[in-house]
Amino acid sequence: MKADIHPVYVDIDVTCSCGNKFVTRSTHAKALPIDVCNECHPFYTGKQKTLDTGGRVQKFADRFGMFGAVKKA
Ligand SMILES: [Zn+2]
Repeated sequence: MKADIHPVYVDIDVTCSCGNKFVTRSTHAKALPIDVCNECHPFYTGKQKTLDTGGRVQKFADRFGMFGAVKKA
């Protein structure tokens, strides 16, 4: 490697919003907060997570829930 042209590549602590912590290596060189990791992402957990902020899903269902519904005679 050529001297003095490479960024520092050090161990950094990564903290997820779910509480999971792990160490990786990066040129970022400081602690890294993340929103989702392999412990909590639905792809790995296999659990569906609905992000329903302020009841928006329910609001949508209330307004448009009748579409696609089978009408009873
Ligand atoms: Zn996580």
